[in-house]
Amino acid sequence: MRIEAIGCEPLLLARFNLENSRSLETYRRHGGYEALRKALTTMSPDDVINEVKKSALRGRGGAGFPTGTKWSFVPKDSPKPKYVVCNADESEPGTFKDRYLMERDPHMLIEGMLIAAYALGARTAYCYTRGEYKYLIDIMDQAIEEARAAGLVGERILGTDFSCEVYTHTGAGAYICGEETALLNSLEGLRGHPRMKPPFPAVAGLYGCPTVVNNVETLCAVPWIIMHGGDAYRSLGTEKSGGTKLWSVSGHVKYPGVYELPMGYDDMEKFIMEDCGGIPNGRKLKAVIPGGSSVYIMRAEDIIGKDVRMDYEGLVAAGSMVGSGGFIVMDDTVDIFESTKNLIEFYKHESCGWCTPCREGTDWLVKAFKRIARGEGRPEDAQLLLDLCDNIEGKSFCPLGDAAAWPIQSAIKRFPEDFKRHLLPLAEQERVPAVA
Ligand code: NAD
Ligand code: SF4
Repeated sequence: MRIEAIGCEPLLLARFNLENSRSLETYRRHGGYEALRKALTTMSPDDVINEVKKSALRGRGGAGFPTGTKWSFVPKDSPKPKYVVCNADESEPGTFKDRYLMERDPHMLIEGMLIAAYALGARTAYCYTRGEYKYLIDIMDQAIEEARAAGLVGERILGTDFSCEVYTHTGAGAYICGEETALLNSLEGLRGHPRMKPPFPAVAGLYGCPTVVNNVETLCAVPWIIMHGGDAYRSLGTEKSGGTKLWSVSGHVKYPGVYELPMGYDDMEKFIMEDCGGIPNGRKLKAVIPGGSSVYIMRAEDIIGKDVRMDYEGLVAAGSMVGSGGFIVMDDTVDIFESTKNLIEFYKHESCGWCTPCREGTDWLVKAFKRIARGEGRPEDAQLLLDLCDNIEGKSFCPLGDAAAWPIQSAIKRFPEDFKRHLLPLAEQERVPAVA
């Protein structure tokens, strides 16, 4: 596993390789909690929000919503308590960056949560972690205790008037609890079903109170922004997407790992072929899903020689999305029909069952994929799969429905030959080479 910054100084990965990197002592020795001190002693909450706005930091969970704007939606005059919730329910297939942030540098996250709490007027912050990351809860709890003992969590932090408690909470392994409103239900002890939006959590979130839900990586960027200024952060990336971004790279590359790149890194081909070591075993690049499984799959010909820019706008222009930065590389041995079948089985399993298009649609899709895989495909099945997706996309209650439809639609449209082969009678399929 390679962990490396490319094209920029490490910002999020700066302390990853230090001895005992997760201890408070190491964190403080390298400037840790100085941003919190600066915010509490020299900045008003509005100053903090303005600095984050200036930074052009965008939500790193997948949606890319501007963080400072989200913070500014929290009503200042509300008499209700306010909450900060860190979404550490990292469940998107191919995404494993937040896990490393919590494992290697938990204090960076705690400091980010505390600065957010100060900016928003919250006295309580929760870190909601997926059930499979149970081991990280111990790391986070230990870090919170260390911080509390040093007067950095709890009452009158750093001797100021600001008080804030930080708690961890574990989910039970449901993908849907990464959706922010399902997460809030789960945190309240309810079943993890999504809620209707609007109202957005910034207005009515945890226990109906104003709540900001931010991804781990988003909150980890906040101490650097406060320490160095929003303009400095923005200048590392592009005008619309400031700073750096973590990409968790898996699949057919020589060096899978977590890479920190400046936003707007301007050559996806170089990233795959040089920075990640290229495609092993003399094979060729066939496909990439750049942002976790819930985005459009890209063909090699959309990447090679195309100078694809790795930021929100660049990837949309290239026909996909940044999503969660779960970068899955596939070589020319991969049958895209088979990989897409895997994905839809995942979405069917994780559909929470609340709304009909997603619950029934993902089930029908799995049945159709299984029938085709048994050799009972018909020429009209590609259209049938697209029709089923069409009845899910835009018609489901939460983004999981779209997330299930997009990879299938794009796989059928961009890799028609892999589907056509499976739609032939079984005996004929064997005469058609599996690898394009
Ligand atoms: P969204 O666009 O609905 O919202 C993004 C954020 O902005 C939310 O916090 C929302 O509350 C806030 N927001 C948007 N408009 C607002 C408004 N008018 N007022 C106040 N707040 C507002 O997207 P989403 O449903 O939160 O996230 C979908 C994304 O999650 C997908 O892009 C997908 O890539 C990603 N995802 C990530 C993982 C993971 O493991 N990291 C897993 C599944 C999906
Ligand atoms: Fe549940 Fe799927 Fe409907 Fe979302 S789209 S509410 S996951 S059934």
